[in-house]
Amino acid sequence: MKIAILPGDGIGTEIVHEAVRVLNVLDLKFESDTALVGGAAYEAHGHPLPESTLKLAKEADAILFGAVGDWKYDKLERALRPEQAILGLRKHLGLFANFRPALCYAELTHASSLKPELVAGLDILIIRELTGDIYFGQPRGRRIATDGHFPGAEEAFDTMRYSKPEIERIAHVAFQAARKRSKKVTSVDKANVLETFQFWKDVVTEVHAQYPDVELEHMYVDNAAMQLVRAPKKFDVVVTGNMFGDILSDEAAMLTGSIGMLPSASLDKNGKGLYEPSHGSAPDIAGKGVANPLATMLSAAMMLRFSLDQAGAADRIESAVKAVLAAGLRTPDIWSEGTTKVGTREMGDAVVAAITGKTITTKS
Ligand code: NAD
Repeated sequence: MKIAILPGDGIGTEIVHEAVRVLNVLDLKFESDTALVGGAAYEAHGHPLPESTLKLAKEADAILFGAVGDWKYDKLERALRPEQAILGLRKHLGLFANFRPALCYAELTHASSLKPELVAGLDILIIRELTGDIYFGQPRGRRIATDGHFPGAEEAFDTMRYSKPEIERIAHVAFQAARKRSKKVTSVDKANVLETFQFWKDVVTEVHAQYPDVELEHMYVDNAAMQLVRAPKKFDVVVTGNMFGDILSDEAAMLTGSIGMLPSASLDKNGKGLYEPSHGSAPDIAGKGVANPLATMLSAAMMLRFSLDQAGAADRIESAVKAVLAAGLRTPDIWSEGTTKVGTREMGDAVVAAITGKTITTKS
């Protein structure tokens, strides 16, 4: 097993460090290599995704990624901004299927902005198509309008498009994921208004014929956004396009209270993947030792399960995370009265202790 470790910027280095400590106590045999990505790579090599980093990522069986970005790079031309590294990796590695589980731990129900009874036990999986849709469709740009409401005025435009194979492969991913869960898929579209999403709905329905054991429902994206806050537990697997998935997965993330708890995986057609927390580089708390490393550790668990065929080791990480929460340890983002506030490093120590069978200390 070869793992490429790309910590990135801001809290990325702090949280990946803790996740690697956790991987190291699992008695697994793996090779790992670390490389710069994002702003750190731009500073050192003049590009957020240098050739050497891309080569390492291509040669690895899986990639553990921290986060990239800092406001200080906002003035750089778009191609050199740290966030381009993520888009470049997705594109070059063909990472078309984004898995974003939203799980609400019993101990953290109070952290949600919804009533505890709405989110207690929440366990949904949003599967977002990641390499198509309006984010990548050509043509796009700015021009002088020749028609529309204001001919002669400056305008900007993007192109929403999906090909049949792109929709088919993400639909298969969703139906197969549902088979391992409660066998229900909600496909989110905007078929009432958009040609692209009427096509999406037709193709998903066609693929569904191969999965008669899985229930399929279709839902318009505006309704899905409402239902996610009205009755989120009604969902199980949600599959949708790139733009709707971008928005709905962040909405689902907030149902669980803290973005610091949410892992994600982006997979190619062979199951190779890039694993990263759902949050960004959090420049506001970088270097303070207070970032929550649990999302990154849970991303490492997803990596072991999906790409490295080590479900047992993944279970051990997930159980250890539950154990530290049950023991009352909290980083500031999930802290509440009556629990013990700890920093990034102490949270790492506690998860390592839970995995190795040592006592979890709860000094405040
Ligand atoms: P963010 O996710 O970095 O931070 C949002 C808020 O959540 C901040 O208050 C932050 O302190 C908090 N937060 C995030 N992760 C946390 C953790 N593990 N523990 C505790 N608190 C945490 O989003 P942002 O502030 O909008 O963006 C900051 C930078 O990150 C930007 O440059 C953005 O482009 C980049 N970004 C990168 C990725 C990625 O690398 N995949 C994703 C999103 C944003």
